[in-house]
Amino acid sequence: MAAKQDYYELLGVERTVSPEDLKKAYRKMAMKYHPDRNAGDKAAEEKFKSVSEAYEVLSDAQKRRQYDQYGHDGLKTSFGPGGFDFGRDFTHGADLQDILGSIFGGGGGLFDGLFGGGGGGRRQSSRTGGAQAGADLRFDIEIDFEEAAFGSEREVTLPISTQCETCSGSGAAAGSKPESCRQCGGQGSVISGNGFFQVRQACPVCGGEGTMIRNPCQTCAGSGRVKSHKRITLKIPKGVETGSRLRITGKGEGGVRGGPAGDLYVVMHVKAHPIFQRREDDLYCEVPVPFDMLVIGGVIQVPTIDGFAKIKIDEGTETGKVFRLRGKGMPSVDGYGRGDLHAQVVPEVPVKLSSKQKKALSEFRDASVPENYPGATRFHELGEEFLERKRTMQKG
Ligand code: ZN
Ligand code: ZN
Repeated sequence: MAAKQDYYELLGVERTVSPEDLKKAYRKMAMKYHPDRNAGDKAAEEKFKSVSEAYEVLSDAQKRRQYDQYGHDGLKTSFGPGGFDFGRDFTHGADLQDILGSIFGGGGGLFDGLFGGGGGGRRQSSRTGGAQAGADLRFDIEIDFEEAAFGSEREVTLPISTQCETCSGSGAAAGSKPESCRQCGGQGSVISGNGFFQVRQACPVCGGEGTMIRNPCQTCAGSGRVKSHKRITLKIPKGVETGSRLRITGKGEGGVRGGPAGDLYVVMHVKAHPIFQRREDDLYCEVPVPFDMLVIGGVIQVPTIDGFAKIKIDEGTETGKVFRLRGKGMPSVDGYGRGDLHAQVVPEVPVKLSSKQKKALSEFRDASVPENYPGATRFHELGEEFLERKRTMQKG
């Protein structure tokens, strides 16, 4: 077997990388080699799996310690003698959807296929009478910054399977019933193996249901569920951010044969805003200000969640100065308090000047003295010193 590549090298990070930077590095790699972007490219799929394995290990503090100390050999005990098994050991399916969800859309299809099943906490089906709980479902939606800031209510239509009405979820055609499975006698499980290695496993004939449908319902082909689209009203609380999830109890996949419905999780992805950036509950914005206002002072207006706020600009305000408006940031999603707004002033160079304006500026320039521009004056002095040294060095 070829030597395995170093996990840190795979992800292109230093050994001292922080968990946040690790996640960023993985996101970049996962996007690049994502099978959706590289359809049919085996090498890309392998690479995707390798970087996912590396992330699996390095994002787990304990496994990372083991790996740092003993290398790939140190992980044998964590992953079993065969080493890492993608289908079994990759536990970041949901995390990866968080990381990539907004780019590749919701739904677990890819993850189910690639990671071998159950992308989202499918509940164990009950063995009694074939009642089966519906799966928890996860969908990703994009919302506007304004919805996150002010809260909103919106209707979404989601593809959610519901109980088949034709057979009331039994899966059997009208006039017939599911029959007890002959293989397992309705137990749902069989004993296999020999000697003392006997294991009880799900019956391969009925798939653990304990019942068989000999005459399946035409509408749902015996599954007891039909695909449908449900309209759901989402109440988005103010303050949500990318990654926030709404849990809507009982609105997931419908249960069959009397089983309970799963829950619905809706994960938010907040679109970028042209003015505001968010970090925690604080907001940041750059405010272009006429250059002359920084020179002689004035008042600017900055939009906030509560309306326009006035900020007084003093004479001689430096470019890049940040004004902090306390309590004018995002509302906290837990309903407690507000962040701050950090408004940074940036001078704007005027364009399309009239000849009158140019004349006024020329007059201003003619009246200027070196003391008006200490920065430029100092810069020029340092430049002179630099070239003076060059002259003395070349002489000596
Ligand atoms: Zn049916
Ligand atoms: Zn069976």
